[in-house]
Amino acid sequence: MDKTKPILVTGASGYIANWIIKLLLDQGCTVYGTVRDPDKAKSVQPLRDIAAQAPAGTLKLFKADLLDPASFDEAMAGCEVVMHTASPFVVRGFKDANEALIRPAVEGTRHVLEAVNRTISVKRVVLTSSVAAVFGDNADLKDIARDRFDETDWNKSSSEHHQPYSYSKFLAEKEAWNIYNAQDRWHLVTINPSMVGGPALNKTSRSTSIDTLRSMGTGKLWPGVPKMRLGWVDVRDVAQAHVEAAFRSDAQGRHIVSNGEPTMLEIANILKKHYPKGYRFPVMELPKFVVKWFGSVLDSSVTPRFVEQNVGHPLKFDNSRSQTRLGLSYRPLEQTFVEHFQQMLKDGLIK
Ligand code: NAP
Repeated sequence: MDKTKPILVTGASGYIANWIIKLLLDQGCTVYGTVRDPDKAKSVQPLRDIAAQAPAGTLKLFKADLLDPASFDEAMAGCEVVMHTASPFVVRGFKDANEALIRPAVEGTRHVLEAVNRTISVKRVVLTSSVAAVFGDNADLKDIARDRFDETDWNKSSSEHHQPYSYSKFLAEKEAWNIYNAQDRWHLVTINPSMVGGPALNKTSRSTSIDTLRSMGTGKLWPGVPKMRLGWVDVRDVAQAHVEAAFRSDAQGRHIVSNGEPTMLEIANILKKHYPKGYRFPVMELPKFVVKWFGSVLDSSVTPRFVEQNVGHPLKFDNSRSQTRLGLSYRPLEQTFVEHFQQMLKDGLIK
């Protein structure tokens, strides 16, 4: 790939995209970023600061909305690489999952890839998918003949009514492969991260994974958490995976990008070790029936079915492809959680 050509990053204001753009600018690349509202200072100013501090690269912002079929053409002109990160990541606080999640994720992917089909300079698309496209519930692990999920797996259990965010990522990635398979000019590489942690470059970032870690320190999860494992990975490693996927000549296919599956209490214990005083970290695992009874009162995404299918179940991902094909070397998760907590304290997000 020609690194002197501009690289398009959709959803430039996002938590992960900020780090991708920083890595690209630090390498001297020209980045075209799309945002929904270029006048929204709280999402755009941190990007401008990243660009101002970068040693060499330049950043140009364009206005684009996932639901507008033509809005990505201008930003894509002349690009060889398109990184499509924009997609809503919310799991609560909406009434209609289709409008909040599924339609923007699927139509947005279609609109971006149809613009790729119209833009002959594009040779490669790096799509930010998710492990949510690989599996739906932790309990799904017992349905496969292995002890861990890998890139051959697809989410079979999510729907508009159960885990709709996961369903949106599954449908969006399927749509991407369908559009890719109907042409032969450009290549598609997907990055499938698990929950992403690590310091945010924009203190107003509100991605769901950030909220999850923040609630550890605000006392919201005191005294107890469900006995539940989630995959986690550092945002800087996820950004590196995107850059490797863009520039490695042989990059192709799906890549699970995940560095371990700690329980929520294990994460709390890591933070407690580094911050022994002053914070109401969770101290115990709640019995499953308690989570089932009260979970949805505290958090609408914690439905009885969610609890049944996820709490107390094992979870494991095979991340070997990301290491062999993208050359990823993961930061320890302890560093991820502690540095993320430090950033949230510094930025006043946790008192
Ligand atoms: P984020 O900070 O919330 O970023 C989401 C981005 O999508 C924002 O830039 C947002 O733009 C944009 N977006 C949402 N709806 C849009 C629309 N209708 N039109 C245009 N842009 C729209 O979340 P993130 O964590 O960085 O997520 C980025 C990508 O990574 C997503 O595809 C997500 O599914 C995926 N992912 C995230 C995680 C994680 O744990 N964070 C894990 C796996 C995969 P605005 O600023 O205009 O709202």
